[in-house]
Amino acid sequence: MPIIPKNISQINQNIQEAITLSSFDEKVTLVAVSKGQPFTNIVTAFDAGIINFGENYLQEALDKKSHLEKLAIQWHFLGPIQSNKCKLITENFDWVHSIDRVKVMKLLNDFRPSYMRPLNICIQINSSGEETKSGIAINNAHEYLNDLIASLKELPMLKLRGIMSIPSNTENINQVVTEFKSMYKLYTELKTQIDTVDTLSMGMSNDYKLAIEHGSNLVRIGTAIFGAREIKINGSDN
Ligand SMILES: *Cc1c(COP(=O)(O)O)cnc(C)c1O
Repeated sequence: MPIIPKNISQINQNIQEAITLSSFDEKVTLVAVSKGQPFTNIVTAFDAGIINFGENYLQEALDKKSHLEKLAIQWHFLGPIQSNKCKLITENFDWVHSIDRVKVMKLLNDFRPSYMRPLNICIQINSSGEETKSGIAINNAHEYLNDLIASLKELPMLKLRGIMSIPSNTENINQVVTEFKSMYKLYTELKTQIDTVDTLSMGMSNDYKLAIEHGSNLVRIGTAIFGAREIKINGSDN
C-alpha cells in the first residue's frame, strides 16, 4: 500500500485503541493537516477516506483549494489570523480553530456569506504558559472566555464548537498531561454553559494518543500522515 493510505489506516487504528484505553467513549474526528503538502497529497488522503483538512496559511490554502473544488472537503483554518485576512478565511473555511479575540470574531461573522452555514469556531487556549504562544492564557481563560461568549450573542454567523490548544513542545510527558487535563476541565465547564460546544481540539502527530486518552475528540495530524512538509512556507503570508 502507498505510504499515505497506510499511515491513515495505522492512525485510525491507533485512534480506536486510544478511545478504548480512555474512559471517554466518544467519536474522534481526524483532521489531516496538509500545510506544506502539495494538493495531490490531499487527493490521495481524500481517496483514503479523509474529509477534514487543516491549513495554516491562507494563500497556500486558496491555491490548493482551486484544484480541489470537486471534492467535498471540510476545511479547517489553524493558523494565526490577521484582521485583513478574515474575509477570505470566512468565505473559504468551514472551521476556524485559532480564535483568540473578539475583533476577529466580529470580522469572521460580518463577512460570512449569508448563503453559508454559520462558521464553526474554536477558541485557542495557550495551555503551555509560554508567552510566545498564541491563544488565551489558560490562567485567566475564564475571564476572557466570558467576554468572548457574551459577544457571541450578536454574532449569528458563528457557532462556538469548543476549544483548541497546542501544548508545550517538550519531552516531559507529565507537563503535557497536566495541560491536557486542564484543557479537558475547561472544556467540560464551557460545555455546561453553551449547548453548541462539543469539540475539544487537541493532539498532533506526536501526542494524539495521549490527547485522546485525556478527552480530546478532534486531533490535527500532519507529518504522521504525509511525512515531512515539502513546500517552503513563507512566514509573512498568513
Ligand atoms: C502544523 C499543525 C498541526 C500538525 O502538526 P504535526 O506535528 O505535523 O502533526 C496541528 N495543529 C496546528 C495548529 C498546526 O499548526
